[in-house]
Amino acid sequence: MPSFVIAEKCDGCKGGDKTACMYICPNDLMVLDANAMKAYNQEPDQCWECYSCVKICPSQAIEVRGYSDFVPMGASVQPMMGTEDIMWTCKFRNGVVKRFKFPIRTTPEGEANSYDDLKGKDLSSGLLSTEEADGMTLVAPTELA
Ligand code: SF4
Ligand code: SF4
Repeated sequence: MPSFVIAEKCDGCKGGDKTACMYICPNDLMVLDANAMKAYNQEPDQCWECYSCVKICPSQAIEVRGYSDFVPMGASVQPMMGTEDIMWTCKFRNGVVKRFKFPIRTTPEGEANSYDDLKGKDLSSGLLSTEEADGMTLVAPTELA
């Protein structure tokens, strides 16, 4: 099920030009109703259910249905982002609440960890970068007589 905004919790990111959910959605689906100061998913059919907007919303105002491979059907799943970890709160239909905390990556925003052993890769090579780093070589085709 696509993302949906719980209107009572959304404060429109306090009127910023671009709300957090608008900024993060890889498919540009979230828009802000400037009169109501509430965001909404303008094209639910196109939602990838990637959870990016759910995680970034500072008001925990967005939900996406949890997949049945990690919570029972009908449970609600809500993350809370910290600086070093993310806490997931799962509420089951029978009232049981479970929380799971996981570390998050600490790479500065806009950067990525480099793969040092892949530096210097020959871009013309027919080998995958990992194969080249593992020392593999291409076998030249043999000519048939
Ligand atoms: S990030 Fe959350 S609070 Fe901000 S506009 Fe989107 S739904 Fe509303
Ligand atoms: S779940 Fe992902 S694709 Fe769907 S609205 Fe949120 S950020 Fe966009």
